[in-house]
Formats: sequence, structure tokens, C-alpha cells
Amino acid sequence: MSNRDDERPDENPASTKSLHDDDRDPLGLSPQVPSDIPRGLDRRKFIMRSAVISAAAVMTGCARSETERTAPPPAAESPQTVATSGTGAAPVVPLSPDLDVVKKEKGPVLTTVDEFYKVGPGPSSSHTIGPMRITYDFYQRATKLPADKLAKATALRVNLFGSLSATGKGHGTERAALAGLVGKEPATVDPKFLDGLRDKPDQVFPVKLGNKSIDVSLKDVIYDATKGDFKHPNTMTVKLLAGDEVLLEQEYYSVGGGFIEWKGYTPPKKNPPKYPFKTMKELRTYADDNKTTIAKIMLANEMSITGRSEQEVNAFIDKIINAMVATVKSGLSMSEDDVLPGPIKLHSKAATVYKRAMDDKYEAERGIGALSAFALAASEENGRGHLVITAPTGGSAGVMPSLVYGLLEVRKVDRQKVRDGMLAAAAVGYLCKHHATLSAAEGGCQAEIGVASAMSAALVATAYDAPSLVVENAAESALEHHLGMTCDPVAGYVQVPCIERCAFGAVKAWTAFAIASNEIASRHRVNFDETVMALAQTAKDMNSKYKETSEAGLAQSVTLC
Ligand code: SF4
Repeated sequence: MSNRDDERPDENPASTKSLHDDDRDPLGLSPQVPSDIPRGLDRRKFIMRSAVISAAAVMTGCARSETERTAPPPAAESPQTVATSGTGAAPVVPLSPDLDVVKKEKGPVLTTVDEFYKVGPGPSSSHTIGPMRITYDFYQRATKLPADKLAKATALRVNLFGSLSATGKGHGTERAALAGLVGKEPATVDPKFLDGLRDKPDQVFPVKLGNKSIDVSLKDVIYDATKGDFKHPNTMTVKLLAGDEVLLEQEYYSVGGGFIEWKGYTPPKKNPPKYPFKTMKELRTYADDNKTTIAKIMLANEMSITGRSEQEVNAFIDKIINAMVATVKSGLSMSEDDVLPGPIKLHSKAATVYKRAMDDKYEAERGIGALSAFALAASEENGRGHLVITAPTGGSAGVMPSLVYGLLEVRKVDRQKVRDGMLAAAAVGYLCKHHATLSAAEGGCQAEIGVASAMSAALVATAYDAPSLVVENAAESALEHHLGMTCDPVAGYVQVPCIERCAFGAVKAWTAFAIASNEIASRHRVNFDETVMALAQTAKDMNSKYKETSEAGLAQSVTLC
């Protein structure tokens, strides 16, 4: 049986080495831009075309031949033109030169599980957990101001922009932002506190800053401009004021999955990973060369980056696994007469779907019905604003818990195998974050449910001891079949299409695993890195109306009465 990598004759170790060693241009763009420019081709266009093709070659491991690189463009080249090889090779879609993956070197993946899997209140990692972390961060910074400055403070003010303003009301962004200001953190906040703010929006809370106490309420969180030249679609500012004077101001970005950044942000310094990787190909090569698994490589990296022991990493993963199981159980326990918050008046259906599926005559229907019910259960919990786990986001918080619950509670798979699955799933999520996005405001629903489904496929494949290539193929397949999926939550609430979409993401993950584990793995034609590039490109090209603005799609066609 041939190995897929063996089917790429022009790949060589030197090209992988250049990823790490060429610090001028680690994507290898410059060295691969030829000096001879074909006649009739504009120099700038030619260099840009060569650069994006080279970037694609480095990411995918498919080096382009000199003939390909110097071939004149097709007669009517448009920005969407497919660059084809004169030798009959597969077409390569040029990446937009504006994409981070093309223009920005990010080094190896340094994300760790405790940054990635976050427990927090639903319904959205970017619109609920992120804003709460942001205002909590600002509160911490404000407490460090000199006493004489704090003595002058009279008010705290939060301004929400872009998608945070467009759909924040349906996500409870103002409540989350206020909770952070009064010193509450996502992992420990009692969801009843947030429910209380919804039921009694006029409540006023004292915020202690040094010897000073400032009263804050929801009136201090302002839904500002939805459109503008923002650095990120989820931008917000937080200010400490003394009358009209600004004592402290910070511009923040909720960049997806509960991750936050701010103006002037630089990633924290971390220890180097034992196995530095930037692509799935590199990660899988480490696993295969060391005759081990993707999960074991990831564990070694977690330990070297964080300095934690294996037991400590496992303890954190167990905490996340247990929280996922708890969210499914809690969702399944809700009555079918329960109505989710908001104007849609959506009834819970997880328990009904589960009970009826169990009565089904056929085993396959029972399996699909149960998996869907588990995903509905966790996603409905997200809709209620209860605690969920970002895997990778709040909107997609039903997908992975469904598979984790199914493996542990139904199939009784060994916990260590599920832990390994969580690490392989994290690798998939990290790579999507590294090269594309986890934010629906940047990439639509493919970046949320699509990534969650890919992570889940890797989880299941790993839990069933699949070889590393099968793990990659399963993740690739799940992601591939979510490409292009838009985000258009009805009324700005993470309920329609989000809750059912989690069920579909879970079932697709299982389908991807079923196909990947039954096909001849080396014949799987598309690799994971290529699909992540497609995710990034599709995110870039997607009409902004379909990126968590509720300005199009279902959000416009569904009438609420
Ligand atoms: S449509 Fe998808 S991306 Fe958008 S809020 Fe719902 S789950 Fe999240």
C-alpha cells in the first residue's frame, strides 16, 4: 500500500527544514519567486501569484515545478483564477495575499489545552466569554493604577463595536461585559447572576478600585457602531473616567473561542515545544517517525510549553471531559416544555429526541438519534446561558460533548483513550486557529461548527486507536464538508440554526470517522492542511453579511411572530 506522502515525488526534507530555518521568510515565499518573468505578464501580479503558489506549496508539502511557477497566466485571469499546472497537476487556488497565513509568520503552534478548552457561560465564546474576560482584564489593570488616579475615578464605560454590537443583545454581551467589570470570571461565574441581570436589568453594582467605589450598571455598556474600520470585527473599548477625563483606556478584540487580544498585543513568551509544528503534515511526521501517536506528541508539547507534568495535563483534560459530560446530562434532564430565553420561544427537544430515538426499531437510527440528542442537550444548555466548554466555541459547544458523552457513557471507551482524543482534537483546533480562524465574525459557521466537527472526528478516530493518517483524514473530511457554511443566527440568538447545527456537526464527525477508518487511508486525496487553507480563503471571501451579523440568510428569512 502506498503512502500518500510517497505520491508526492517532488517533496524533500529541505522544504520542511526551510519552514523552521529561514527566518527571513519562513513560509518560503522569497526563495521560490523565480527571477524570470514570463513575457506579457505584469511583474507585480507575477510575483504575487508566485508567492501565493509558493505559500500553498509550503503548507501542503506539494512543491510546484519550475514550469508551473513560470507558466504564463490564463488569458482572462481574475482574482479567483485557478492556477493550473501545464503538466496536468491538480489545480491550486491562489490564496488571497491579505491572509495572515500568507503575509504573517507565526512560528510553531504554541497554544495549550488550558487556553483552548475554556469553561464559561453560553451562548457565545466570542460574544459572552470573550467580553467577560476583557472587562475582567480591564478591571485587573484598573486596580493597579496609582491611588491618586483612582481617587478621581467616577465611571467605567464599555463600548461594543462591529459584530459585538450587531448581535450582542442576543448573546447577552452587555451582561457578560458587566459581570467582568464587577470582578466575575467566566469559569466561576454563577449563570444565575447573568440570568438575574436579564430579569432585573436596572441593578447597580459597586466596583471597588482602591479606596474608591464606583457604581456600574448595564447602562455603562453601550452598543456602539456596527460598521467601521475596526481592527477585528469583534472590537470593544473599556474606559475608566473621571468626568470627561479618561484615566485609563484599552481597545480589545474578542478573537474567537474566548481568546482575547488588545491594541499592541504580543503573544506571551512561552517555552519551546518539544516537537515544533506548524502543519498537520509536520505533526503527523513526528508521530510516525517516533512510532507513536498524534496525542502523545501533543502531550509532550503541552508538558514542554507549560512545564506541567503528565498528571497535571491529564487532570485538566479530565476537568474538561467531566464538564462536557455534565453539560449533556444537564441538557437531557430539561423538560420538553422548557422554553429557551429570547424572542424565538424555542422549546427544548434534546430529551424528547433521545427518548424517541431509543424506541427506534433500528440500531443505526438509535445511534444517530442519540448522538444528535446529546449535541442538542449541550447546545441547549449554551442557549440557556449555562456553563459550557469552548471546543472551539460556545456556538459549537454541543458538538464535542456529544461525542465525548457517547464514547464514555454509552460505549464505555477507556478514559485514557478519550483523553488522547481530546489532545488530537486540540491539535486540529490549534491548526485552524493558527492558519485560519475560530471566529464566526471572521469566517462564518464553518469556523465554529466546521472546526468542532473536525476536532470531534479526530477525537473519535484517536479514541478508537486509528493510525495518525486516519486521524488526519477524519478531521479533514469533517472540515471539508462544512466549508462555506455561513453564520446567520435568527434574531442574533445562538439557537437557530446553531442548536440543530451542533447535532449535524456531531453526526458528520462520526460519518467522517466512518469513512476515514474504512477507506484506504493513503488514497484520501485531500490533506488537512489544504482544507485549512481553503477555510482561511473562504473566510476571507465570505460576504460580511454572513459573518455573525444577522443581516442575511435565516436571520432575514425567518419571521418571528
Ligand atoms: S450560526 Fe454557527 S457560527 Fe453562527 S452563532 Fe450559530 S453556531 Fe455560531
